[in-house]
Amino acid sequence: AISITSVSKSFGKHKALDDVSLELAPGSVTVILGPSGSGKSTLLRSINHLERVDAGFIQIDGDYIGYQRRGDKLYELKEHAILRQRINVGYVFQNFNLFPHLTVLENLIEAPIAHRQLTKRDAVTRAGELLDIVGLRHKADAWPRHLSGGQQQRIAIARALMLNPRVMLFDEPTSALDPELVGEVLDVIKKLARSGTTLVIVTHEVGFAREVADNVVFMVDGKIVEQGNSTQVLNNPRHERTKRFLARVL
Ligand code: ATP
Ligand code: MG
Repeated sequence: AISITSVSKSFGKHKALDDVSLELAPGSVTVILGPSGSGKSTLLRSINHLERVDAGFIQIDGDYIGYQRRGDKLYELKEHAILRQRINVGYVFQNFNLFPHLTVLENLIEAPIAHRQLTKRDAVTRAGELLDIVGLRHKADAWPRHLSGGQQQRIAIARALMLNPRVMLFDEPTSALDPELVGEVLDVIKKLARSGTTLVIVTHEVGFAREVADNVVFMVDGKIVEQGNSTQVLNNPRHERTKRFLARVL
């Protein structure tokens, strides 16, 4: 489970997150919607302690992300302990971010071997399973630049799954793709949604949200304006801002 409690984050005078609280059940699928600049990426980055929040705290399965609790105080963890927490969280970006100088297979096995989480042999086995799941085993020895955008993103998802994260974060995973490649990436995410991993997905694909999400969260100006089960938020939004936003993206 992910528990976000009264989180705020400013960049200079600008409040990117303003007292955000959110509870996400284990295995749930949450889609975050909102206009550009509303704080969606900042929220995802905070869940992984890629941003250090100014106030509030985030817990995954009870662990304080980036911090350790002693008494009633939180102390920031050392870099190696933060890296260990990140093993539980997979992150998929808009722009794939594959290592260009490594083959597909090497991209998948690099981190688990570097962090001594898997032996090379186990990493290669696991990579094969995941390449099957994303339908790209035949590309194991290809270079990222020789793959389509949709294929690169499916590899990025497989790479993020290598260490069996409890949580997967997706930041606009399809928005850099040509329209005809969006479906193949969403299909992989749908498969994951049925696998029990907790998913948090920033996307403008409202049809996908309707089909796959348990919860939908709508953000404006660093605040959660509306949240609830996906049918309620998408079919019966209560707030004017949500209505206007949905009217524009549908
Ligand atoms: P988009 O849909 O365009 O990706 P978003 O909802 O993901 O937008 P964020 O990237 O979270 O929005 O940004 C929220 C606000 O914080 C924006 O006003 C942005 O300019 C600002 N911001 C984000 N990161 C930084 C940073 N590193 N330094 C300064 N300002 C930042
Ligand atoms: Mg963003």
